[in-house]
Amino acid sequence: MTSKVLQSFLRENISDLKARGLYNEIDPVQGANGPVINIDSQELINLSSNNYLGLATDSRLKEVAKEAVDSHGVGAGAVRTINGTLDLHLELEKKLAAFKGTEAVISYQSGFNCNMAAISAVMDKNDAILSDELNHASIIDGCRLSRAKIIRFNHSDMDDLRAKAKEATESGDYNKVMVITDGVFSMDGDIAKLPGIVEIAEEFDLITYVDDAHGSGVLGKGAGTVKHFGLQKRIDFQMGTLSKAIGVIGGYVAGKAELIDWLKVRSRPFLFSTAVSPADAVASTKAVELLMASTDLNEKLWENSDYLKDGLKKLGFDIGESETPITPCILGDEKDTQAFSKRLYEEGVYAKSIVFPTVPRGKGRVRNMPTAAHTKEMLDEALKAYEKIGKELGLI
Ligand code: PMP
Repeated sequence: MTSKVLQSFLRENISDLKARGLYNEIDPVQGANGPVINIDSQELINLSSNNYLGLATDSRLKEVAKEAVDSHGVGAGAVRTINGTLDLHLELEKKLAAFKGTEAVISYQSGFNCNMAAISAVMDKNDAILSDELNHASIIDGCRLSRAKIIRFNHSDMDDLRAKAKEATESGDYNKVMVITDGVFSMDGDIAKLPGIVEIAEEFDLITYVDDAHGSGVLGKGAGTVKHFGLQKRIDFQMGTLSKAIGVIGGYVAGKAELIDWLKVRSRPFLFSTAVSPADAVASTKAVELLMASTDLNEKLWENSDYLKDGLKKLGFDIGESETPITPCILGDEKDTQAFSKRLYEEGVYAKSIVFPTVPRGKGRVRNMPTAAHTKEMLDEALKAYEKIGKELGLI
């Protein structure tokens, strides 16, 4: 017999979420997650993936992944610290360190997992973490797991950060203080003010941690937000994912050899969870090699994102303050936003609506993620749908 307490907990909460319009319906994709996807037997222009450079379906990555299955099998077989560290994992970490311009890299099974692992390996209950109020859920969970005091600062507000850094360091209450931020914020596409953050960090001796999930492969000609600002030598943790621009799966921290050494002996998912598969490791390595050899995909990404942004602006849409390919189309009202996204779907465009509580009330938006793999024709078709629906709903 199953637990009655569990059953009533689930029923009450699921129906509550549904009543409040917060229950996430999942749209399963048939086939690959490319610039065009198939959902429910309908072909849709895909403006919702994080596959910034189109590498998730790149033939060069697929080729090395197939070869790795033949040479190394499908699983790593153990956690990294027993005998799951394959030559392929070490090659990936070496390439990533060169790509990021740091002494060393440790890789994990996902970006989420990486934040949980790395923050809690260094920070503890006698420490404090200054965290941007818009930081990603995995940062928030990593901070909570560490049991450090979490002090949120207003989004990208350097005066607020400075005041809180001063207070935390001068209080004498904490052994260590860290400042942590997304490199690129995924809802608005704005870039963290890293030069200001580094200046404050150096003044108060803060540990610096940048989650560059949306900056890697995108900014700094691909090398990320830290490189974009030329701050490679002044940031302690450059965290990144292998699941977005790199197109595969996994997460990593790039930093000084001593830090990476510590993470290898102290971060729990590295010690207690099996490593990524051989195919994943080589595909990621191949992607990094491609990005180091040529900036063509990166340039194409920016060309496409400028094209889509210009098109939306010309139509009269508000695309906010985005400085990166993340292109929010801010419609305001939650119901309008949801109706817009639904109509886009009917017109053959997949772009998700994002509403309260993910973004503030009245700031509902349809978020568009152009990639290097989109053609101009696809983007034109999407813009045509935007124009049609915008007029239909009286929004432009
Ligand atoms: N950090 C940020 C800022 C993210 O947007 C995401 C993914 N949504 C992650 C971490 C987690 O990365 P992954 O999907 O590789 O687990």
